[in-house]
Formats: sequence, structure tokens, C-alpha cells
Amino acid sequence: MNFKPRPLYILPDITHVSPAVLQERHGITAVVLDLDNTMMLPHAGIVPPHIQTWLDDAQAVGLSLLCVTNNKDREYCQRVEDILGFAVIYYAAKPHGYGLKLALRMLERSPKEIVVVGDRPTSDIWGGAWHGCHTILTRPLRHDEPALYNILRGLEWLFVGKPLHATPTAV
Ligand SMILES: [Mg+2]
Repeated sequence: MNFKPRPLYILPDITHVSPAVLQERHGITAVVLDLDNTMMLPHAGIVPPHIQTWLDDAQAVGLSLLCVTNNKDREYCQRVEDILGFAVIYYAAKPHGYGLKLALRMLERSPKEIVVVGDRPTSDIWGGAWHGCHTILTRPLRHDEPALYNILRGLEWLFVGKPLHATPTAV
């Protein structure tokens, strides 16, 4: 794997690329999404409406969706699975742990048809690239973390390359 994997896109959130663009431009048939700060605020148990609309649209055009999270809270993740309506693999130990391997087995298709979406360069983007999938890096949904936390998280961004494509027109 390249030391600095290059995501397809770096986006404010996943709604800035339409499911149709993923299908038609990149040949994507399945989307593996991180949970915390990608689909939901941590511990929130609620999907923001614009993200929910995107998830609905993605399923409507035939994309398979799967959530792979490093969150270890089994009870919470089971509740989230009910809310999302698709499978959640928790305690995934991204980038190299069992979660993404299991996702690939469940999806039964070439990694080239899969995009891994998440807000953490060293877990989501490294994990996706390590497994041969496309990746999309999104900004964390939560912006009100303490300054030191943001600085440390910001350092992680040194470990991804430039996006392969400019941000498409927002949907
Ligand atoms: Mg996350």
C-alpha cells in the first residue's frame, strides 16, 4: 500500500457526492460507512436528516450499504443497526482488524466496486486502501471538540495524499 493513500474525494460530508456519481463515474456497487462522526455524532443515536436522505437515495439506486465501526459498545451498535436498517460491524479494529475483512466477505464482490467512507485517515482511509477498496475522507460531523483533540486529529491528515478528484458539485 502507498504510504499516503489517496482518497477518491475529500468532502465536508458524504452528501457532497451523489450515489449516482459513485456508481456511474467510479463503478461503485457498495458503500462501507464509518459510524461515529461520519453518519452520526458520537453517542447520538440519531442520523442527521441530510445524511439519512443520502443513505435512502443510495439504497434507492441499488448501492449496498454496510457500517464498519471501531466503536466497542455492542448494545449501542445494535440499536444503531435498527436505526440504520443495514448491518453494523462493531469493534472492527480498523485499519487492519477483522471488520473490513468481514465486510468484504459479506459483500462478495471485488474491492474495486467498494468505497470505504470515514472521517479518520489512519483507520478508515488506511483500512480501505489496505483492502484494495476506493476511499472517501469526510470531515468529522462534530466540530466542537477541545482544541488539543482537534490538533491531534489534524495530524492524522498528514498521512493521506491529495484526493484523486476535485469535489463534485454538491447535491
Ligand atoms: Mg469516525
